[in-house]
Amino acid sequence: MPPPEFGEPRAVPPSDGPVLELMGMWAASIPARLGGALMKALGSAAPMGRLGHVKRVRKAAAAPGGGPPQLDILLCPLKWREDQQQEQGQQDDGQEWSAAVQQQPAPQAHDGVAAAAAQADGPRADAAPADLPLAVAQLVQQHDLKPYVTQVPRYAPLTRQQLDEWSAHWPLNWRAPDAASVPHLSQPPPADAETMRRHMAAAWQLAAEAGAAGGVANACLIVDPEGDVVVAAAADATHKHPLRHAAMAAVAAAAEWQRQMWPNEQQQQCSSADDGTADEEQGVAAAAEGQQGGSEEADGKRRRLEGSHDVQDAAHEAAGAGSTGGDLPHPHKLHTQQDAQQQQQQQQQGPEAGAPSAAAAAGDAAGVAAAPVPSTRPYLCTGYDAYLLHEPCTMCAMALVHSRLRRVVYCAPDPRWGAVGGSYRLHAQRSLNHHYRVFQLPPAGEAAGAGGAAEAGGAC
Ligand SMILES: [Zn+2]
Repeated sequence: MPPPEFGEPRAVPPSDGPVLELMGMWAASIPARLGGALMKALGSAAPMGRLGHVKRVRKAAAAPGGGPPQLDILLCPLKWREDQQQEQGQQDDGQEWSAAVQQQPAPQAHDGVAAAAAQADGPRADAAPADLPLAVAQLVQQHDLKPYVTQVPRYAPLTRQQLDEWSAHWPLNWRAPDAASVPHLSQPPPADAETMRRHMAAAWQLAAEAGAAGGVANACLIVDPEGDVVVAAAADATHKHPLRHAAMAAVAAAAEWQRQMWPNEQQQQCSSADDGTADEEQGVAAAAEGQQGGSEEADGKRRRLEGSHDVQDAAHEAAGAGSTGGDLPHPHKLHTQQDAQQQQQQQQQGPEAGAPSAAAAAGDAAGVAAAPVPSTRPYLCTGYDAYLLHEPCTMCAMALVHSRLRRVVYCAPDPRWGAVGGSYRLHAQRSLNHHYRVFQLPPAGEAAGAGGAAEAGGAC
């Protein structure tokens, strides 16, 4: 079945709103009559800055024996030094608070003041705030406050429902989310939608071929957008190995492609020539090449690679593919000085200036292996885009995070196992050290969330 026409890509936001995250703050109970004056004093001593969504005061629970009304007032973040450091790295928000704490003297100077205040006041209900900013410590001393620690939502809620739920921790202000705080809410569709459609059609084609051969119909293309180069392509091969989902196989193929492009590093980084892993990767890489070339020769090469136990064979095979006009992609733009010289030579020699041939790529492999040069190999798939017919599962989505993909584009969502919008949003996890953008590319005429015929063809 030929690929369908694809419609408009739709950004899959990391979440409908941020996940609730609490942070500790110093607070104190004060008589309600002091509320106005302390609000004003704290407003300059410790502005709320990026915590503008948090109300400074709340009504305190009534004391058992009655008495004048009390308020709870927020003094400053518990880890205000860390906040200061963080905000120095995020100049776009919270400069007010940052500027205020920067005016504070060195810790030794005001620790003494706060500690003295704590001693003078005797034991407190909570740990003594020995490390308050000077101006706050002075207010604590002046009004004989008894600071305690409370928890407030670190981020502003993005929906009314979140506002209601999160306000149970501490009262919050409602501010309609703006584009600056939630970039994905107002993102225009990507300018390269046509490129996305073309690569998705290729992934569809690959999946259809794999499906016809009895496999599960999913496939993954990894594309370097700079130069529009298909770095790796692989179909699902779980009938051979349970972990060889399309994305896993494609990432392995991309890694193998890099080993061929930068072979001088393979001895250092890929020393497991005989543990079977190398065989797997070679097999997958060759399979990907086979998918790209689609020739009997490529099939033959795949069989040879799968039987190989010598990691160097990969480079030799690359050279072979080049000399016979195989379909190896050109070297990455991040080339070595030697690459640059070779390109220059090639531009002088051949008519294919600016588009190095596979033979040149193979030449690189042979030349660089003989004379190691400093590493310029990009980290796995940094800056690349992945195209999948099916939304990736958690394993694949995490592998794509690890590989530093720039974008993940899929056609058919998976409400049960999908990890980037279907049932879970891995790309929303703040704890991860890399985040890609996610797009769904539904068939033309189908609503967002639909994956057309692809849905019937299995899952990740
Ligand atoms: Zn998967």
